[in-house]
Amino acid sequence: MDLVVDAMHVGTDERTWLTSRRLAELPPLRIAPPGRLVIVAPHPDDEVLGAGGLLQSMHDLGVELEVVAVTDGEGSHPLAHASGVDIASRRALESAVALDRLRCGPVAITRLGLLDGEVASEIGRLTEVLSDLLRPDDLCLTPWRSDGHPDHDAAGAATLAAAAATGTPVLEYLVWTWHWASPDDVIVPWANCRRFDLDSAQRARKRWAIEAFTSQVSRRDSELQEEPVLPESVLQRFRRPFEVFIEACE
Ligand SMILES: [Zn+2]
Repeated sequence: MDLVVDAMHVGTDERTWLTSRRLAELPPLRIAPPGRLVIVAPHPDDEVLGAGGLLQSMHDLGVELEVVAVTDGEGSHPLAHASGVDIASRRALESAVALDRLRCGPVAITRLGLLDGEVASEIGRLTEVLSDLLRPDDLCLTPWRSDGHPDHDAAGAATLAAAAATGTPVLEYLVWTWHWASPDDVIVPWANCRRFDLDSAQRARKRWAIEAFTSQVSRRDSELQEEPVLPESVLQRFRRPFEVFIEACE
């Protein structure tokens, strides 16, 4: 995830989303199980926050999962990173534990190691890598191209370009949109949004998986020197009983 959007601003209250007719009336997501589900995660945790329910559902249907970890998220704790704490390894481990808690493991994870915060400067290279990786019978999940974090937007743009070249269908997931947007926001392509409802077990596992990202959610961790990246107001949005995906749109 990695907070670039104003960290001190609490963003749109979760109650606003949960009580909105806009989300309640979204059509359900209807997809046939793909040959493989590939999820592009700009930072270790985006795959679980944005699509942890759908990942479980596809895994239960026997679909092979692959995570493309674009960066290692080392920018989440700049002070600790600068003083030699290996944030990247820690976050990679957290991601593996979280996927295991979703009962999706073992999951193939392709680590690209792009610099956290600098994905936009590597968009051509990322597009090439994804073009080599994607197949027409995959379904690819990627952050919405306008999610509002530079790494998310760049990953979305690169994925869409690669998927267009390979003929791979794409669904875009939302992470930071829930922070800055509102249900009446006309920038969000609501007409193309689809709702995926999690059952109680999927929801509980997703919540348990999110707790695996201790560097992002822990309140007390002397090694990291800084406050958690994901405050309670943000975490609430990913405990809701549904996820939203954007189907192909221009
Ligand atoms: Zn992210």
